[in-house]
Amino acid sequence: MLKRQTLIAWIALVAITVMPFSALAQATQVKYHSNKYSVQDDIKLGRQAAQEAESQFPLLRDETVRSYVENVGRRLVSSIPSEFQHSEFQYYFKVVNARDINAFALPGGPMYVNRGMIEAAKTEGEMAGVMAHEISHVALRHGTAQATKGQKYSILGGIAGIAGTILGGPGVGQLAQAPFAVYLLKFSREYETEADILGAHIMANAGYNPRDLAEMFRTIEAQGGGGGGFLSDHPSPSDRYARINREAQYLRVGPSGNDSREFARIQERLRGYGGAPSMAEIARSGQRYPTGEQTGNQPSNPPSGRVSYPSSRYQSYNIFNGGVQVNVPSNWRQVNDGNSVWFVPDGAYGSVNGQAVYTHGASFGVAQTNNRNLQSATQELINSLAQGNNNLRSGGSQRTTLSGRTALFTTLSNVNEATGRPENVRVITTQLRNGQLFYMIAVAPQNERNFESAFQTIMQSVRIND
Ligand SMILES: [Zn+2]
Repeated sequence: MLKRQTLIAWIALVAITVMPFSALAQATQVKYHSNKYSVQDDIKLGRQAAQEAESQFPLLRDETVRSYVENVGRRLVSSIPSEFQHSEFQYYFKVVNARDINAFALPGGPMYVNRGMIEAAKTEGEMAGVMAHEISHVALRHGTAQATKGQKYSILGGIAGIAGTILGGPGVGQLAQAPFAVYLLKFSREYETEADILGAHIMANAGYNPRDLAEMFRTIEAQGGGGGGFLSDHPSPSDRYARINREAQYLRVGPSGNDSREFARIQERLRGYGGAPSMAEIARSGQRYPTGEQTGNQPSNPPSGRVSYPSSRYQSYNIFNGGVQVNVPSNWRQVNDGNSVWFVPDGAYGSVNGQAVYTHGASFGVAQTNNRNLQSATQELINSLAQGNNNLRSGGSQRTTLSGRTALFTTLSNVNEATGRPENVRVITTQLRNGQLFYMIAVAPQNERNFESAFQTIMQSVRIND
């Protein structure tokens, strides 16, 4: 499959520009860099990083937007030249509710496009251009290639400005054994050029004008993207714009993939949400529990709050890549909420103003903290839960144990955002070996006592493997 290759000097580019013969006027051939990691390493690493990323960033919960972006992404992925296709890779596309003009892709395929990027793009082609560029980094296995060279490697390059603080260490479970738990990176300009070239090829194959990729870099620049945004993570080779346009001359564009009507509709929909937070604001607010901070005319589908009693039969789940094992009533189901994993009965989960709301259930998550003291780290978490929620009141903490380690049990009261009913919120926290804070949050209306014993059983079943 993959041949070990020596580093490729970027000579083809020069050759094409200095040779005036039309016989040489053809699309540039991009090649893999030498890579000592396996394709499986890319997949494993990307999966872990994706989990980490989704515990940090609020995903936009809008199926219309998500599936639109996913469709564009699929079209691009199926247009990757065959020598760069890896059938093992699982590309998927999610939208982060952040206003920065940015996007990032992780080894093996997970990709995150900021809402700000979709809103800034002038055409669907421009948005697709950034996605094709990101897909190219993944297909060319640039992350592990860079690690092979012993350079500082960051799988979360797209969030560079804040990644240093919020991704200070590996997350729960296997990430601790990741082959390289290093996070910050910028791709070299050489890799950037390659991603631009392959990106242009993918664009053309998918029926997009490859020049739209060049245009998008202009759009990003015009909006000040050189600061903390895309261009600081994907530094521009000096002749980026011209280089892409030159390449475009040699590419045959497939049947049009541009859907400008649909793109306009999606942008309109996003504008209806009001302002998104910036990545820096998200980092400052830390781990989030439904805060209701979003405004605008987002579709609501509130939970009914009418649920069955917790089953007396329990089912075991492995979450966080097997880092945590827990038993939950067999009539509850798992809901991955970006930030955390919830287990809820039917009727207990819905959304209000685009924000997920739960009336009954238990969630688990890991909060990044620099605070080594359990009590203060817990307070930090609770402060972040209270942000934007004036109804949350603390009823004090007591010591307990979770998975055989010292833990804190904090009782809070709240008024449910969907039903308006008073509810109990219990927060159980303990520290992981890497210093991060593991938490369980249990929510139920105050007058539904039958959930108390279910929460006790769940709590006692938690096994942490870090
Ligand atoms: Zn790049």
